[in-house]
Amino acid sequence: MKCFNHSKKDAVGICKSCGRGLCSDCAVDLKNGLACKNACEDQVKILNKMLDMNEKVMSTSNRNLKITGYFGLISGILFIFLGYYFLRNLEAIVGAIFIILGVAYLVSSILRLSRTSQFPAAGDKN
Ligand SMILES: [Zn+2]
Ligand SMILES: [Zn+2]
Repeated sequence: MKCFNHSKKDAVGICKSCGRGLCSDCAVDLKNGLACKNACEDQVKILNKMLDMNEKVMSTSNRNLKITGYFGLISGILFIFLGYYFLRNLEAIVGAIFIILGVAYLVSSILRLSRTSQFPAAGDKN
């Protein structure tokens, strides 16, 4: 491929914003992508910033989902234990309600945790 501006020069890369071929004179290297000098630099900088932010948001929401998932697992187990205790020593109905709540907690948090694994972890793209 040739440079978009200099038809005789070989392109060293492609602008991340407009997709044109660029020679070493026309390309500006912006940490994770090339941009047309004086033309697409700002757009590519914004693009990079957006990708960075997106990655951060993805990894935090993933972490939050995991935390609430594990929290739900623990409270589910606690509820079942409490329910079992009530069932044996106090009110059978109260115990049954606690066990049902505990199972519901467990199921919903397991579902939530299995959903988090579908998000790619930040950093392992490609
Ligand atoms: Zn460009
Ligand atoms: Zn050029």
